[in-house]
Amino acid sequence: MPSILKGIPASPGIVVGAVHLLRWEVPEVPDSVIQSDEVEAEIERLRIAFARTVGRLRNVRDRARRVAGSAEAGIFEVQISIVEDPELRGGVEDAIRQHFSAERAFDVVMLEWRDHFGRSPHATLRERVSDLIDVHIRVLTVLMGLPDHDPLDLPRGANAILVTHDLTPSLTLQLDRECIAAIATDAGTRTSHVAILARSLDLPAVVGLLDATVRLRSGEEVILDGTAGTIATRPTSAEKTVAAALSRQQQAETEALSHLAGEEAISRDGERVTLLANVDLPDEAEHAAQSGAEGVGLMRTEFLVVGRAAMPDEDQQYAAYAGVVRAFGNKPVIIRTFDVGGDKLPIGGYPEEPNPFLGWRAIRMCLDQPELFKTQLRALLRVAMLGDVRINLPLIVSVDEVRQARVLIAEAAAELAARGVPHRADVPVGVMIETPAAAVLAESLARDVSFFSIGTNDLVQYTLAVDRGHAGLASRYTPLHPAVLRLIRMTVEVANRHGIEVGVCGEMASEPIMAFALLGLGIRQLSVNPNSLMRVKLIVRGMRASEATAAADAALAASTAAEAELILRERLVAEVPSELLHA
Ligand code: PEP
Ligand code: MG
Repeated sequence: MPSILKGIPASPGIVVGAVHLLRWEVPEVPDSVIQSDEVEAEIERLRIAFARTVGRLRNVRDRARRVAGSAEAGIFEVQISIVEDPELRGGVEDAIRQHFSAERAFDVVMLEWRDHFGRSPHATLRERVSDLIDVHIRVLTVLMGLPDHDPLDLPRGANAILVTHDLTPSLTLQLDRECIAAIATDAGTRTSHVAILARSLDLPAVVGLLDATVRLRSGEEVILDGTAGTIATRPTSAEKTVAAALSRQQQAETEALSHLAGEEAISRDGERVTLLANVDLPDEAEHAAQSGAEGVGLMRTEFLVVGRAAMPDEDQQYAAYAGVVRAFGNKPVIIRTFDVGGDKLPIGGYPEEPNPFLGWRAIRMCLDQPELFKTQLRALLRVAMLGDVRINLPLIVSVDEVRQARVLIAEAAAELAARGVPHRADVPVGVMIETPAAAVLAESLARDVSFFSIGTNDLVQYTLAVDRGHAGLASRYTPLHPAVLRLIRMTVEVANRHGIEVGVCGEMASEPIMAFALLGLGIRQLSVNPNSLMRVKLIVRGMRASEATAAADAALAASTAAEAELILRERLVAEVPSELLHA
């Protein structure tokens, strides 16, 4: 029976393609014992499984080397050495001699190793846990004869729709645009980082499907609609024709908006708005610069860490930042220091936390590891020689954190000076306003910083106490909640009083109704995904700032998010009736 799976629209675009189902989890191993005369045969089965796994890992490593480079392929080298470790083999063989089946013996030993490594006081050993998990999955898959769906096996041009529970760091590394045409996940929401990454990669995506990995089969043909947030199974040829027509229409709309690229972002009543781009991956910089962005409002630097096995050194970081700064010439480029933690994790090396979003994230992790932080700061102070670079600190909740960061910035500058390396010591420093504490404390923070950047993705999450990545709570994650709007208004008022810049770089800035609300709240700087830039410009050019203010005032007075949304929608449709906005 054909059916429609409904999820959350995460990245626009329509794809007709074949499902590539990826279940990256340790399979459940049945409890089974063997007889004494079966021991040798089980040991032989284990030897063959290890040899096959190593062969497979070598293939994966070689492909990763071609797709992502040798440094990244190194994680597969580590995994090969785990499988070849004589101590591991000895331990599993001993368990087989105690009459465990090969898979049961391997499962038990791996669980012990993972537990042992996970508790280690040494970060380098803890870092191995995610490699152990990958090896655990791979060997059991072979031993139990389960289908193997490594994403790197896909041929180029496969037009595959990757369906998985969640996009883990090691899967992120394997995303190859040449063979994956779209992404669908059980987990996630519009503001989870999978969705943000999909938009950056310009890959249509539907997230929060809850049970797509159970309902879809590998190889089956489906239509994924990233704009509507749906997956249609068993499409008829008529439905495929409609999908193709819709896809062409979306492309035509994008082209229709492209004439705005050279136009100014100025409202009908003469208010100038600065439109900047969010850059999540360095190779987006050219596209972002050509999209008409007047600079970068948020360069996320986590790509250097997430899904990677090792921290990049100062020169590697410098090269990555320099590419973006050069693409923008003298235009401002706001680079945010590492916001690692939450749902942005490196491969291994991170202690397990009960509440990662309330845990060791962003500035907390950096201040606790000054050497790691200073490596990034030195790269930033050096790259500031190339253009208008500004440093942005994430997840700030107190003035102390800003002061501590400033001490480390001064130390980084002194270290560069001692080495005789050209740098700029007085780079402007700003903060993300993405916690209620920062918004409430804006008055104190404003004395210590050069600008505010409102991160609504987290501000909404922490104000409403709703996990931004929780698909089951997506309807409760309401950015237009009056409490959120009031915190934004407060922040804008403080910034204006202190004469410092304030912009919004969260996903709210890319959504037409929400962007209209932000402009009405007095925001004059929006940083958005480059693909959304023209739509936001259409709003700015079509509206009167006075009307936006009146609409935002009415939304602020509403008692619920739904009421606020209704008010803003009606007023925006009246103010900017373009079909390109409300299609
Ligand atoms: C935000 O929180 O709004 C933001 C821009 O940062 P990130 O999405 O990377 O957490
Ligand atoms: Mg954030």
